[in-house]
Amino acid sequence: IRDVKYRLLRNLQGTSAHPGQPVCPVEPAAGQPGSSLREAGTPGVYATEPRIIVAEDLTPSDTVQISKSDVRGFVTGRGGKTSHVAILASGLGLPAVVGLGEAWSEIREGDLMIVDGGKGTIVIDPDEETLVRYQEACEQLAQTLERRAQLKRIPCVTSDGVRIKLKANIGSLDDVPQALQNGAEGVGLLRTEFLFLGRTEAPSEDEQFERYREIGAAFGGEQVIVRTLDVGGDKHIPFLAIPPEENPFLGLRAIRLCLARPEIFKTQLRAILRASAHANLAVMFPMIATLDEFRQAKRMVEEVKEELQGEGKPFSSAIPVGMMVEIPAAAAAADLFAPEVDFFSIGTNDLTQYTLAVDRTNSSVADLYQETHPAVLRFIRTVVDAGARFGKPVSVCGELAGSPDGAETLVSLGIRELSMSAGNLLVVKERLMKVPVSALRHEEACRGSHG
Ligand code: PEP
Ligand code: MG
Repeated sequence: IRDVKYRLLRNLQGTSAHPGQPVCPVEPAAGQPGSSLREAGTPGVYATEPRIIVAEDLTPSDTVQISKSDVRGFVTGRGGKTSHVAILASGLGLPAVVGLGEAWSEIREGDLMIVDGGKGTIVIDPDEETLVRYQEACEQLAQTLERRAQLKRIPCVTSDGVRIKLKANIGSLDDVPQALQNGAEGVGLLRTEFLFLGRTEAPSEDEQFERYREIGAAFGGEQVIVRTLDVGGDKHIPFLAIPPEENPFLGLRAIRLCLARPEIFKTQLRAILRASAHANLAVMFPMIATLDEFRQAKRMVEEVKEELQGEGKPFSSAIPVGMMVEIPAAAAAADLFAPEVDFFSIGTNDLTQYTLAVDRTNSSVADLYQETHPAVLRFIRTVVDAGARFGKPVSVCGELAGSPDGAETLVSLGIRELSMSAGNLLVVKERLMKVPVSALRHEEACRGSHG
């Protein structure tokens, strides 16, 4: 409703027609009308000059419409580090601090502010000394980025010669240049639902076909894994009219919705398959919990292939069909899925959320959101073992893959392909190229000896 409200107001004011000047709505805290960045009498803030967006919360559809040229960073009162707003900010290469709590509402329009996305802190009205310190840190960071840029064309090989493939997670064509600039070896996760956000109706089959074809072609021969629609949870798409749920993360989300609404799913599958005639694509289903779901989804792929054949439309008959492992049930039973899938991709964001029963968007339980909890690592190990037994590739596309420590842990568990926000590719590569895999001791973390 909030989304629709802002969009209506923007359209009535005739301000939405200025590309490059997106509107950044900011919702004041309850009982504090006019506070924060809201300008009296206006529905939101028009980012006409570089600024930091401060909000109690942002929807993923707000975030996808924010243009990098106007915005220097994000601060939100709510959300966790793997909520989709944070993931989108990271994809834009912007610093973000999420889950600040009530303190977000103390920030006033015009405050000078430092957003330290690395530490997860903000400084309001910094004194001279702090400003100088951060300016120096910025200069150092620029040098570090320049140094890392040298790595973009070099394949990632650990110091003891183990090749690790590094791919990008993207959500749209706009993310492609950054992924290529950072040396991504293909796309391990195309979050297709981002193509559906911020719209009033679903993209048609032809429109989707064009997008998948263009994105696929941009990566040349490298593979682009197209994940089918993962709606629900914290990603709302109003025109799909999904009835409200008590527990949306446990409800009609992702593949469950697609199987319940085959017309949406089929349109998407047709578009992906048609695009597979022009690029190296793979299909991946999110949130698979049961073998039956995977089989039903795969059957739909086969049906679509028959339809396209009948219509004389080209597609790649050998397109790989894989699944995300992000529900503990799928991880624990990975050996049952392995004979039927072409590949596994582990989504540590949801796997952590569901294993520890901790909402990934809820800042009040953020300290329990432990991606390297021994239980999560054991699940990853189980999937790696099942993949090895049946000769099926296993990659990781959750946020854990995009942190140098997380990437090390995953490599030590036997993962050889990581997919992450483009902005993290080079920092992860730099770290992995320094370490010998043989010296990594994360088996101990798996056993729980890390405390
Ligand atoms: C995950 O759950 O780890 C994942 C990569 O998917 P998403 O973050 O889009 O839920
Ligand atoms: Mg997920």
